[in-house]
Amino acid sequence: MYRTHTCGELRIDHVGQTVTLAGWVQRTRKMGGMSFIDLRDRYGITQLVIDESSSKELNDMASGLGREYVIQAIGVVEERHSKNAKIPTGDIEIKLTEINMLNEAQTPPFTIEDESDGGEELRAKYRYIDLRRNPLKKALSLRHKMAHETRNYLDSKDFMEIETPYLIKSTPEGARDFVVPSRMNPGEFYALPQSPQQYKQLLMVAGYDRYFQIVRCFRDEDLRADRQPEFTQIDCEMSFVEREDVLNTFEGLAKHLFKNVLGMEFKEQFPRMSYADAMGFYGSDKPDIRFGMKINDLTGVAKGHNFSVFDDAPYIGGIVVEGIASYTRKQIDELTEWVKRPQVGAKGLVYIRISEEGIKSSVDKFFTHDDLKKIADGMGAGVGDMIFIMSGIKTKTQVALGTLRIEMGNRLGLRDPKVFAPLWVCDFPLLEWDDETNRFYAMHHPFTSPKPEDLDKFYSNRKEDLELVSANAYDFVLNGTEVGGGSIRIHNSNIQKRMFEVLGMTDEEAQYKFGFLMNAFKFGAPPHGGIAFGFDRFCSLFGGQDTIRDYIAFPKNNTGRDMMADAPSRIDEMQMNELFLKSVAPEKTK
Ligand code: ASP
Repeated sequence: MYRTHTCGELRIDHVGQTVTLAGWVQRTRKMGGMSFIDLRDRYGITQLVIDESSSKELNDMASGLGREYVIQAIGVVEERHSKNAKIPTGDIEIKLTEINMLNEAQTPPFTIEDESDGGEELRAKYRYIDLRRNPLKKALSLRHKMAHETRNYLDSKDFMEIETPYLIKSTPEGARDFVVPSRMNPGEFYALPQSPQQYKQLLMVAGYDRYFQIVRCFRDEDLRADRQPEFTQIDCEMSFVEREDVLNTFEGLAKHLFKNVLGMEFKEQFPRMSYADAMGFYGSDKPDIRFGMKINDLTGVAKGHNFSVFDDAPYIGGIVVEGIASYTRKQIDELTEWVKRPQVGAKGLVYIRISEEGIKSSVDKFFTHDDLKKIADGMGAGVGDMIFIMSGIKTKTQVALGTLRIEMGNRLGLRDPKVFAPLWVCDFPLLEWDDETNRFYAMHHPFTSPKPEDLDKFYSNRKEDLELVSANAYDFVLNGTEVGGGSIRIHNSNIQKRMFEVLGMTDEEAQYKFGFLMNAFKFGAPPHGGIAFGFDRFCSLFGGQDTIRDYIAFPKNNTGRDMMADAPSRIDEMQMNELFLKSVAPEKTK
């Protein structure tokens, strides 16, 4: 037997027992005639001791140990003289009688401490060593717990976990597909699924009325901050449901996870907000409602003061930032530059400062004191507060104000990662017009059903009508991050056909790409709907971290590379030939 206990297990009650541990040498130190070894495994660290009374052989063995050597240690549990309250095993140590070397180790390229001295790249290259560190162990065990509790909850609600294929037909709609050449079908390709969307709908047609899968999805997108080309979803679908049924079921899942993973009870129903309100009050379709600072529409009150910037703008909006009336001119100028950056996209920033000395603004030339007071009162701003105003095209300005709102929330410490504010955002538009390609795109995906009351508009050929069609779609938002999204689906082949037509697809194209789904709908498709949660992100939010990478055992870097295995890589000539492939990519210069 390699071990009787783990390195995180022994307590004062074990004193006197002879035990065998196995693990990695975290550290060795000598003090007088004593040698100490910290032995580490997944469960913790236990101190081993050797003193003068121990054999020379044992002493020699201990002196020869390097960091990360793998050993087996046999000895007797003793109470420590100087206890270490910082670790659970800190009351005891093991007086060694025997050490067996299981494997030597090269000196690791960085320290295996909570704060390592290794840079990100180095740690990515030696991920298997990095994974020995506590923060990563904590992240992965949280992930395990989340997956386990998800399965518990969904199983208790009669959901069946069913696997769907990874090699599927390429039907790019949202992102770009990753493709896989088929050796047996020369010149043809599979795609890796961006999500199991169509398969889960087919499972509904097949009668498996509650499906879920914790499933890998693949999207070949330009990697924006903290995205991974492969990521995991909790993917779910239900039959014979309306929106309320789906929201209640998955609000139940979120509450179950909060309770069983974090020990947090959410008694009340999660708030629900329309897409229009989310944009209007928060300038975002994923509002962070941990704090207020809502956007006020000032279009009515701010016009008509001969300030052409406002008078010419279709929309004017503002936020009240409490308690920052003492901001200096320099700080306001810095913020003005900040909002002008292309990422925010505002043209400028008007401020109204309300302090003991009175009201002061950057538009004093155009607005009387009473005008400003009226605006401030209307926004609920008081002494000590600052108002920031932007103007321009409505949605763009709302989004810019929303971005400023988040920035102020960050600067003022209003976004505590230990506080959780879940929210449902509903009633999204069905379609989004794209000027560049001159066509509509599905805002969620092409299988999302229009609201029944909007069907007339859905069959209209006027762009203005189509823009107004609402979707039976919803997002689950947590702390300003979209964690889940889903919809009630189209289950009627004619409506689905119309949807593809609205998206600019010819009948043949639709048939070629989605024929199997549309055909299936002719064989008795039940009304159905579902949702998918971004599992990696869900975990990182629960863990209070910004980055999802720590919650994935072997992630890619931000150019989509596996730094450890050095993938992607070229394949050899023979493999290429077998697949009927020829590369036209230039040789890489390193
Ligand atoms: N398949 C969708 C997605 O990946 C989620 C859903 O509608 O259930 O976003």
